[in-house]
Amino acid sequence: MDWKENLDEKIKNILIFDAPMRDYTTYKTGGSAQVLALPENEDQILYLKTFSQQYGLAFRIIGFGSNILVSDLGLSGLTCCLKNYAGLALNGKDLSAKAGTALDEAVRFSTEKGLGGIECLSGIPGSCGGAVFMNAGAFGQETFDCLKSFKAITPNGEIKEISKSEVQYGYRKVKGIEGCIILSVAWELTEKNSEELKQSRLSILERRAQKQPLEYPSAGSVFKRPQNDYASRLIDSCGLRGLTVGGAQVSQKHAGFIINYDKASASDIYNLIRKVQEEVYTQTGVRLEPEQILWGEF
Ligand SMILES: Cc1cc2nc3c(=O)[nH]c(=O)nc-3n(C[C@H](O)[C@H](O)[C@H](O)COP(=O)(O)OP(=O)(O)OC[C@H]3O[C@@H](n4cnc5c(N)ncnc54)[C@H](O)[C@@H]3O)c2cc1C
Repeated sequence: MDWKENLDEKIKNILIFDAPMRDYTTYKTGGSAQVLALPENEDQILYLKTFSQQYGLAFRIIGFGSNILVSDLGLSGLTCCLKNYAGLALNGKDLSAKAGTALDEAVRFSTEKGLGGIECLSGIPGSCGGAVFMNAGAFGQETFDCLKSFKAITPNGEIKEISKSEVQYGYRKVKGIEGCIILSVAWELTEKNSEELKQSRLSILERRAQKQPLEYPSAGSVFKRPQNDYASRLIDSCGLRGLTVGGAQVSQKHAGFIINYDKASASDIYNLIRKVQEEVYTQTGVRLEPEQILWGEF
């Protein structure tokens, strides 16, 4: 029997069939998701996961799509976007955020309340769930620095509070959460002067606007930082700034970014990533490893 006929009433109004992923990713390109779900509560998220397992459907979780390139051929199965599962709660110095809360909103709130520890993450355009999954970081601070625990649905469908010590985390990676759906995160912050925190936040937002091509769609830095170097420095030294494939371009403003310059397809961006990797390897011997996640067929 067709799985679509068996969907429960409780999720029917949160589904979009053939949803264009350009509307759910910051690259603003890529094909459509066969089904996109926008759950608003834990019960719906758990149901979607169990349902997809039951019917053998591909299942993906997306936050704000700020670190993902979706293939032009689209995504089969069920893509579950958590952007409508949002909210912040403060208990003393403990700040908790549901997975779909904007990370930047959590940061703004913490600085207003005079709580430090995540202020350097200002301006990262992802969700709190995505920030945990990627251990997002900037200006010497990482999501895991002040993280106390996070709540997740484990691959076998259990809802569990996972403490920081139960996982291994490092630069843009977390081990031990593969297949988990992060539902919420709790940070233990430190009391600090609110005005100073707000000032650091403002200066970070200014630095980002000065250095990053925020006027174009992108997914941030394309490559992880190679040992003892910067991807953008290497790309620049190879003369690749401004290199273009179709509508995709190595940003003139920040060589570590690829921008959707002019209606780029996902293939344009993918082919440019490969070109940059090949050229940098030929000229310097360094293999750049993508930080961004590719979904679908390329
Ligand atoms: C202009 C710009 C600047 C950026 N600057 C930075 C920066 O300074 N530092 C930095 O680290 N990153 C940066 N990024 C990249 C990106 O914002 C981060 O990686 C962010 O943490 C991704 O969050 P997201 O919600 O968009 O995740 P998505 O892109 O939606 O997903 C990324 C991965 O996380 C998984 N995921 C997302 N949510 C969940 C969840 N709830 N449970 C389980 N898995 C989940 C997805 O399945 C996917 O594998 C930048 C991006 C842009 C566009």
